[in-house]
Amino acid sequence: MLSLNKIFDRFAKKKPRIRGRGLDDNVSEALIIPRSEHTISRKQISAAALHVLYGLKEAGYESYLVGGCVRDLLLGHEPKDFDITTNATPEQVHKVFRRSQLIGRRFKLVHVRHGREIIEVATFRAPPQAEIDVDGAGRIMRDNVYGTMEQDAWRRDFTINALYYNIRDFSIIDYTGGIGDLKSGVIKLIGDVETRYREDPVRMLRAVRFVGKLGLKLDPETEKLIPQCAKLLSDIPAARLFEESLKLYLSGNAAVTHELLCHYHVFEHLFPQTDKVLHTEQDDYPRTLLMKALENTDKRIDEGKTVTPAFLFAAILWEPTRQLWQQNKERNIPPIPALQRAVTDVILTQVTRVAIPKRFTVMTRDIWTLQPRLEMRRGKRAFRLLTHPKFRAAYDFLLLRAESGEPLTELAEWWTVFQFADESEQQTMVNQLTSPTKTKAKRKPRRRRKKPVEKSE
Ligand code: ATP
Ligand code: MG
Repeated sequence: MLSLNKIFDRFAKKKPRIRGRGLDDNVSEALIIPRSEHTISRKQISAAALHVLYGLKEAGYESYLVGGCVRDLLLGHEPKDFDITTNATPEQVHKVFRRSQLIGRRFKLVHVRHGREIIEVATFRAPPQAEIDVDGAGRIMRDNVYGTMEQDAWRRDFTINALYYNIRDFSIIDYTGGIGDLKSGVIKLIGDVETRYREDPVRMLRAVRFVGKLGLKLDPETEKLIPQCAKLLSDIPAARLFEESLKLYLSGNAAVTHELLCHYHVFEHLFPQTDKVLHTEQDDYPRTLLMKALENTDKRIDEGKTVTPAFLFAAILWEPTRQLWQQNKERNIPPIPALQRAVTDVILTQVTRVAIPKRFTVMTRDIWTLQPRLEMRRGKRAFRLLTHPKFRAAYDFLLLRAESGEPLTELAEWWTVFQFADESEQQTMVNQLTSPTKTKAKRKPRRRRKKPVEKSE
C-alpha cells in the first residue's frame, strides 16, 4: 500500500477552487485535485468503466467515477467494482449505450455491458427532503429525485465515499472533506450523525465494514452513536440484512469485522440467538469455533478459494443449535430428532432477522445433521456417508468442532485417514471399530417411534 501521507501531502493544504451548494443549502466549497497531484491513473480503471466514462463524455454529458472505487484507488487498493455517476438521465444513458438496460423501480439505474463486465451508472441524486421523503422514525422512504453533483455528494454516506474522478481532466472533486479524512485515516459520516443513521441504519453496518476492510478508524461522533442507534436495525428488511451480512462476513476481513460488530453492539441485532449464547460460554467452544471459522474463511478468500455462505452460517449459528440440541436430549428426545428440532427452531428464528435464502439453509441443515452421522461408522455407514454430496462440508465442520475443543479429535482423525485410504484399508478401519471379541450383543426388538413433525423454513 502506498503511504497516505505521500499521496496527499502535496495537495492537502490547497485552497478549494470551486464553490457548490451542500446539504440544507449551506454553501459548500469543493476542493479540486488536478491529475498531477494525485495517484489515480487510467491504467487502474477497468476497460468497461473507461468505455462508459468516455461514451458519456462524447455524448456531451458529465461523467465521473464515484464512491468506493475512487476511495480504494487513492488508498492503493484494487476496487471491487467501478460505479459511475452522470448528469444524464437513465433514459439518456440508455440511448448512449446499445448494450444497456434500465433497472430499478424506485430509483432507476442503468447497467451497461462491456465485454463481460457490467457497469452501474446512476444519475446525480438529491438528498431526501425531510417532510416528504422520510418516515416518522427518520427513515428514508423515497430517494428518487435527481439533483446536481454537489447534492449527490452530500447525500452519500461517508466523506471518503463522496469523491468524484472527472474523466474530462482526470481531476478529483471533493465537496465533503473526504480527501482530508482519507489523509488522516478517518471514516466520517456526512452531516448530522444521528439523522443519517436514522435515515438508513445500514450505514452503521457499512461503517463497521469499512473499518474492517480499510483499517481506518471511525470519527468519534460516527463511532459514539453506533451502540445507541444499533436497535434501529430492527426496522430493516431481513432480505437487506442478509445481503449486508454477506458483505460483512465474506469480504476477506470477517474475523476483525465480527469483533467490531460485537464491540459496537450491532451483532446482537443480526444474530440474536448466537449473541445470547456467546456470553454464556461453555468450555470456551463458542467463541473459538466461530473465530476459527472466520479466520479460515478469510484465509480461503485470500487464497482465491471459494467459500459457501452455508458453511459460514453453520458456524455462526452452531452454538445456539448445539445448546438447543443438548436441551432437547435432556428432555429425552433421541439424539437425531433432538438435533433436527434444534436446527429447525434456530433457522426459523434466524431467518426473521437475516433472511438467509433456502438454498443456503438447506445446506447448513445438512452440515449440522450429518454431525451425529459422522459418529456412526459401522457396517456400510461410513462408506455411504463418504458419497453424500455434503460429506466434505460436514467433515470440515467436524474438524472445526474438534479444533475448538469439542471432544472429537479421534473421530476427526479417523475420517481424515478413512477418506483417503484405499478400499481394503477402509474396510480394516471399519472392522476395527467393532469390539475385538466380536460378541454380538443381543438386539433389542425395534420399537416404532413416531417421527417428529418437521416444519419447513
Ligand atoms: P464497496 O463496493 O467496496 O463495498 P462502496 O463504498 O463502493 O464499497 P457500494 O455499496 O458499492 O459501496 O456503494 C457505492 C457508493 O454509494 C458508496 O461509496 C456511497 O457513496 C454510496 N452509498 C452506498 N450506500 C449508501 C447508503 N446507505 N447511504 C448513502 N450513500 C450510500
Ligand atoms: Mg462499490
